Amino acid sequence: MTPSDAAGLKALDRDHYLHPFTDFKALGDEGSRLITAADGIYIEDDGGRRFLDAMAGLWCVNLGYGRQELVDAASRQLQQLPYYNSFFKTTNPPAAELAETLCGLAPDHINRVFFTGSGSEANDTALRMVRRYWALEGQPEKQWIIGRDNAYHGSTVAGMSLGGMAPMQAQGGPCVPGITHIRQPYWFDEGRDMSPEAFGKVCADALEARIQALGPDKVAAFIAEPVQGAGGAIIPPESYWPAIKEVLSRHDILLVVDEVICGFGRLGEWFGSVHYDLAPDLMSVAKGLSSGYLPIGGVLVGDRVARTLIDDGGEFHHGFTYSGHPTCAAVALENLRLMAAEGVVEQVRRVTGPYLAKHWKALERHPLIGEARSLGLIGALEIVADKAAGTHFDKTLKAGETCREICFEFGLVMRSVGDTMIISPPLVITEAQIDELIALATAALDETARRLQ
Ligand code: PLP
Repeated sequence: MTPSDAAGLKALDRDHYLHPFTDFKALGDEGSRLITAADGIYIEDDGGRRFLDAMAGLWCVNLGYGRQELVDAASRQLQQLPYYNSFFKTTNPPAAELAETLCGLAPDHINRVFFTGSGSEANDTALRMVRRYWALEGQPEKQWIIGRDNAYHGSTVAGMSLGGMAPMQAQGGPCVPGITHIRQPYWFDEGRDMSPEAFGKVCADALEARIQALGPDKVAAFIAEPVQGAGGAIIPPESYWPAIKEVLSRHDILLVVDEVICGFGRLGEWFGSVHYDLAPDLMSVAKGLSSGYLPIGGVLVGDRVARTLIDDGGEFHHGFTYSGHPTCAAVALENLRLMAAEGVVEQVRRVTGPYLAKHWKALERHPLIGEARSLGLIGALEIVADKAAGTHFDKTLKAGETCREICFEFGLVMRSVGDTMIISPPLVITEAQIDELIALATAALDETARRLQ
């Protein structure tokens, strides 16, 4: 691409394209970064500059870029049957096969799936299923859904309402009623006056307290990610999930686990719920299901909820034009086949996850880093002004954003959430490429420290 082609495209983009999660005015004359190609774990811009994509796009390109098998699967399906809907007693071969494959990968008590086009739609669907379930069970007053502060469950109105992102909720009018949020298990920022184990239990106590305040017979479900992704790769203390599970089961409250990031190998198991032994009633999935090559999501439904919806429910008045989209389903099927054939999940659990953990943790020695945490192939670095006290920089200095931009200068894509730097690389990253990632991150941190002085 010539520089003038690129400049022309950036001008079109700036003048006409309203980007997600972007301050439109801030694009300025320079415009957006123009990404034109990708291969493996690297992306390339219009000037031919290569970046190690330590975010796998948006936590989704699990098999990496440029997989011809996925292109071929899409191409075959586009020629055979590009689209048909799944409404009114109709199906198509890839959707039916994908449903069976997904249920085979999920924990034993999960045997049904409802397809959507995205993670947000999956969480909308989960919300409707949960409320419908309790209505059919003769307990329509069980309506409240409890989520967590700083959780991300998508950008539709229901996704935004289930999530606990304050800036999102401050825009766009009232949220869906009947949703409330409790504190997040973010030990580094909120719990360092006690041990992680004690803090995990304090967070579960907050769930118990909220249930008591609402009335246990009015609470339908708790929704959470196994590890909070967009909130800052927040890995809960080991005590957290067992304590949460105990509270939910004592009050007969459904557990909806948002696996949109953690699903499909990110934590070294097919699902984050398996890593933490969560036995969820519903699991929302998307992203890694197709390695992001085509948009597809879904809700995996446990037997308890499925039985009631099917046996007592009649028609479920809910669905999307692209539910069970044959081409997206064909790509997802091929993606899962490749992941299984290449042992990608085992590789994360046994090799690259532990390898990353060891080298990532070493970044804690950097003067700018207060904590380096990781699990499987998700990780975070806490940028701090005072290492001993663990205090962040003044917000106006935008330390995280500064580091993110420096990463780009050094050829690395890391995301910043406030002053937390995040990685979630393609699951096919090798040990040598992890070394490269760490070297680039170290150089970027050195430069960030210099500029923040
Ligand atoms: N849930 C989680 C945990 C996510 O991280 C995301 C997206 O980042 C979503 C839901 C929403 O998915 P989508 O953007 O496909 O609607």
